[in-house]
Amino acid sequence: MHELSMADAIVKTAVDVAEKNDAQKIIEITIEIGGLALLNPEQLKFMIEVLSEDTLLEGAKIVIEEIPIEIECKSCSYEGPAGEEELDHYMPIVKCPECDDVSINIIKGRECNVKNIKIEKEDEDA
Ligand SMILES: [Zn+2]
Repeated sequence: MHELSMADAIVKTAVDVAEKNDAQKIIEITIEIGGLALLNPEQLKFMIEVLSEDTLLEGAKIVIEEIPIEIECKSCSYEGPAGEEELDHYMPIVKCPECDDVSINIIKGRECNVKNIKIEKEDEDA
């Protein structure tokens, strides 16, 4: 399952960063997902929660930000947000909103990144 391997990678990245920063725990994690990453944000969130059990990420707030799809049209040179036929995360049909052409370049929207991690550190004076 796509979400599972992605969730696994995200948990590993977050725990790795936290460990390198001597974190006691992770408070919050922000993940960016593009509209074309073919990921279901709710499923992804659920799997991160499951996989983060007994790690520094356990109990952290998971924030998912969706990145809008941006395209460049090969027919009319339009550049900007895509027109989406189906707002379905599995199979969005992306078209040029100006001329309806489907021969486009995707500029943005395939990303799935850990954007930000908030950690809690032990008091350094302690
Ligand atoms: Zn166009």
